[in-house]
Amino acid sequence: MHLQTHFLSGWCIGNLFRLNGRERLFCALAAALPDFDGMGIIFSQEAYWKFHHLLGHNLLFSIVTAGVFCCFSRHKVKMLCLCFALSQLHMVMDLFGSGELWTISYLWPFSHQEFSVSCGWALYSWQNILAGIVLPGWCSS
Ligand SMILES: [Zn+2]
Repeated sequence: MHLQTHFLSGWCIGNLFRLNGRERLFCALAAALPDFDGMGIIFSQEAYWKFHHLLGHNLLFSIVTAGVFCCFSRHKVKMLCLCFALSQLHMVMDLFGSGELWTISYLWPFSHQEFSVSCGWALYSWQNILAGIVLPGWCSS
C-alpha cells in the first residue's frame, strides 16, 4: 500500500485513544515506518527490490520500534501495544494491497521464509484508492 495510507491509518487509529499529540504522531510513524526499507531506491533499483519488504517488514522491527516509541511516551503500556499492533497492520495492508509480487519475510533475520496471500490486489487498485480517500475523510471528521 501507499506510504500516506499507512501513515493515515496510524493517525486515525491513534485518534481513537486518549493520547497526547506526540503519541498520536508515534502511532502514525509506527504505521508508516516499516516502509523505510524502500529508501534503497535512493541508491539503486536493485537495492530497492532487495531490501523493500525485508528490513522493516518483520517481527523484530515491530518489536524494536514499538519499544522505542513506548520509551518516549507517557502511556507506555498502551503505546507499546498500539505501536506494535499498527506495525502489524502495516504488514497486513501490504500483504493484501501491494500486488502479488511482494512477499514479507516476517521472521527475518531469523528465517528467510516469505509470506504472501493469493487474494491480494494491485498497488494501483480501486481498493487502495478507496482507502486513500476514506482515511483523510476519517481524519478530518
Ligand atoms: Zn510496507
